[in-house]
Amino acid sequence: MWRRLFSYLRPEWHWAITSMILTLAMTYISLLPPTLMQKVLDEAIPKKSVDLLVKLSMALLAIYLLSTLLSVLRTYLMSWLGQKILARMRMDLYAHLQRLSLSFYDSHRTGQLMSRITGDVGTMESFIVHSVQQLIVDLLTVGVIGYFLFRTDVPLALIGLAPAPIMFLMSIKYKDLVLPIYRRLRYAWGDLSSFLSDTLAGVRVVKVFNQEGQEVDRFWKKNKRIFDTNMRHVFLWSAFFPGMGLLGSISLVAIWLIGGRQVMEGTLSLGVLTMITLYLQRFYGPVHNLAHFNDIVQSTKASAERVFEILDTVPDVANSPDAVKPNKVRGHLIFRNVKFAYQDSKEPVLKGINLEIRPGEMLGIVGHSGAGKSTLAALIPRFYDVTDGIIELDRLDLRKWDLATLRSHIGMVLQDPYLFHATIKENLTYGKPDADMIQVMRAAKAANAHQFIMDLPDGYDTYVGERGIRLSGGQRQRISIGRALLKDPKILILDEATSSVDSESEYAIQQALDRLLKGRTTIAIAHRLSTLRKADKLIVLESGQIVEEGTHEELMAANGTYRRLVEIQTRMSESLSVLSEAR
Ligand code: ADP
Repeated sequence: MWRRLFSYLRPEWHWAITSMILTLAMTYISLLPPTLMQKVLDEAIPKKSVDLLVKLSMALLAIYLLSTLLSVLRTYLMSWLGQKILARMRMDLYAHLQRLSLSFYDSHRTGQLMSRITGDVGTMESFIVHSVQQLIVDLLTVGVIGYFLFRTDVPLALIGLAPAPIMFLMSIKYKDLVLPIYRRLRYAWGDLSSFLSDTLAGVRVVKVFNQEGQEVDRFWKKNKRIFDTNMRHVFLWSAFFPGMGLLGSISLVAIWLIGGRQVMEGTLSLGVLTMITLYLQRFYGPVHNLAHFNDIVQSTKASAERVFEILDTVPDVANSPDAVKPNKVRGHLIFRNVKFAYQDSKEPVLKGINLEIRPGEMLGIVGHSGAGKSTLAALIPRFYDVTDGIIELDRLDLRKWDLATLRSHIGMVLQDPYLFHATIKENLTYGKPDADMIQVMRAAKAANAHQFIMDLPDGYDTYVGERGIRLSGGQRQRISIGRALLKDPKILILDEATSSVDSESEYAIQQALDRLLKGRTTIAIAHRLSTLRKADKLIVLESGQIVEEGTHEELMAANGTYRRLVEIQTRMSESLSVLSEAR
């Protein structure tokens, strides 16, 4: 994992090395003052040499100036590197999320995914940008000070540095305690952000059911879990670091006692004792930082696991190495004994579908909800791959098609069309960004949308709001038909395209759809069977199997499920019209 994290540095290796050299130079220079101090105490003052004192002071000034300059350069360079790596990581993560198949999204909550891009990558920031540079400085400081101390006085160095190995063992133990806490914390954050995206998007439902209080309670529980987990960390942390500090201070006490006596006995100069004390004080700062670094490493590890889990997920639906890109598509679809089960359920949703839809034909799919109609339609653009059997387009297995080519020939109009937070024009041209205004208006007219668009304050430049919230259901539907028209696909999938709109818009939409269908292979799913009369062929699905197949007339004559459904709907619409007349 660390190697992977650092592999992000590779493209910038020369900058990484430059900043490393700056760091080494800066650390070394900043460690020189105590040796100057020793010279001041042992040479300049006893000899009363003002000249030497001035020279040493000027050297000290030069050291501070130089180390400040180096520090500015190094901080800038390393932060720039770190930010660049993080930006690339966020980019990789988002690009990979876009590649992943729908089955991945079925099993991951949006909020958890969002928190990985915004939160977890951010957590790694403090590691890559601040901690790694601090680690280099600290390791170097500890090494150089250790070297200076041993060079000066071996017994005193041994006494002074004795607590270091104990601290090292303590940090190893600390690491094991803190990693599970960080893992829990990152999960709790993801959970909170999932909860937020769910309840804020569903705010209308919350309000109409008077559940504001209930949702606040649920939020409090999740919020409290973050608080509790953080407090567990604080508990460990607040005891551990002062404990480490105490150990370091004890060695300083020993140096005072032993070194002080040596100075009294004349076996050690005052300057050397002062220098050793100054170095020791600077030694335990970095040791303390190193233990703290351990803490950040564990937090980074918990986050990196979550980020790499996404990057390591292989899309179920991907281009095969020998994928082909036929340049002409006729739109001839064949299902051969197609079976399909969703990833985490054992029960198959489709249980052996055999079906042929010729170029330009319209197939109507009828059946109770949950029968598998939408699932069948979702297999055509390869949102999911069949579990068994084959689907062919123009006699070529869908899995042999280049995925982008295949999808470029498929249009979908769904029950609840998704519009992006953008202008009407941008939504219309989503699949064809280079369309000019004439093409856009032609599509909007064919979709019966031009009129209402022109009535909007900014016409085609009107923002539709998040998910198109500023438009009515019927208007959104017509935009989505226009969007499909502009894409001009050979195959069209209509999944309950008219079921959530009122009769008036239904008429406008039906007209628009009729224009859209022309010359395209169409798979239409509808509850209102009247909209499927024109279909060349109808199938009735029941628990994943085709139980009836034929034209409207044939199925009416067969006197089966289809006829029963049609009769129920006719009776319902009759009683509805009687009701409205009585009113
Ligand atoms: P229909 O369109 O006929 O109403 P669907 O194809 O939507 O039926 O659903 C068929 C069955 O598959 C249902 O039992 C449903 O619960 C299940 N199902 C649908 N989508 C998923 C999914 N993403 N993951 C797991 N099961 C699903």
